[in-house]
Amino acid sequence: MLTEYIDSIERAAHIIRAGGLVAFPTETVFGIGADATNSDAVKRLFAAKGRPGNNPLIVHLDDAAHWSRAASDLSDVARVMLDCFSPGPLTVVLPKKETISELVTAGLETVGVRVPALPIAREILRSAAVPVAAPSANQSGRPSGTTWKAVAEDLDGRIDAIFTADSSSIGIESTVVDCSAGTPLVLRPGAITLEQLQKIVPQTRELQADEKSEMTASGRQVNSPGILHPHYQPRAKVMMVDLPQKELTGEQSKDAAYCGLDVFDGVESFPCIKVFDSIDDYAAGFYEFLREVDRQAIERVFVQTAPEHGIGFALRDRQRRACGG
Ligand code: AMP
Ligand code: MG
Repeated sequence: MLTEYIDSIERAAHIIRAGGLVAFPTETVFGIGADATNSDAVKRLFAAKGRPGNNPLIVHLDDAAHWSRAASDLSDVARVMLDCFSPGPLTVVLPKKETISELVTAGLETVGVRVPALPIAREILRSAAVPVAAPSANQSGRPSGTTWKAVAEDLDGRIDAIFTADSSSIGIESTVVDCSAGTPLVLRPGAITLEQLQKIVPQTRELQADEKSEMTASGRQVNSPGILHPHYQPRAKVMMVDLPQKELTGEQSKDAAYCGLDVFDGVESFPCIKVFDSIDDYAAGFYEFLREVDRQAIERVFVQTAPEHGIGFALRDRQRRACGG
């Protein structure tokens, strides 16, 4: 398939409405969009990514007021969360509407819904006027695409079009909160933190490590299979380091890369380095750095463990998973 490189909102929307696949930017990461009501399109989307069929897709809307295009019900808790954080990097899991393809939700009776904040994304969604299933724009298992060139590396020839636009500013996927039953449960950390959610809905809590087995959170089935799949992994072996000055000084570095917030003695001997000025920059540039390491065919990458505050909590989650654990 010949992939078109486009910068027209109308063209992107037209391709999606016609059942095609278009990668487009959002503030979190780039997504590959397909009409969520068209099972043929969604089937092609899973194939293009090589994504396991039991990992559900998030449905994107142009406006939270249009929630009923994807969901059959909106609880008070979900409404409050959407009022506070949409458009933005928040996905709420709601009871599914029947017109959404069962392939999108991997057979679940719930659907993840998000309204991205990036104007280009919202305009494409508004113009398409259908609910759009959009997983991260990368080959399944790889670091998510945060630039259109990274998307092209993984998906050129596999999808109909790539929207050429600037990098994603947040760089980490949305916070996913299950609002479909009882206590809201954070299934995946993101830029919207647990503390922010608890200010709005105090009973919100986080999925615990021992609950990530598709089974019960206080007796309730936690159905988010995606949290168990391998994710965000470059070809290079990723290792987390807490104190690079202590752990990496004198480290044999010819075949290794380093990224983090701190420099250390001897860092200049590593052939590929990225030192970020802030935790937000670290999150925004993390996946792209992992991809750069692969481009340079470097086999090991040390990543400084993200501090556990703000978006650092979500970044640390992605770092652990990039390590394979
Ligand atoms: P990605 O498309 O890679 O950002 O992954 C989307 C993730 O959102 C999935 O892997 C799930 O963990 C989560 N998700 C999407 N839909 C649902 C749903 N209906 N119920 C629970 N989690 C969901
Ligand atoms: Mg993904």
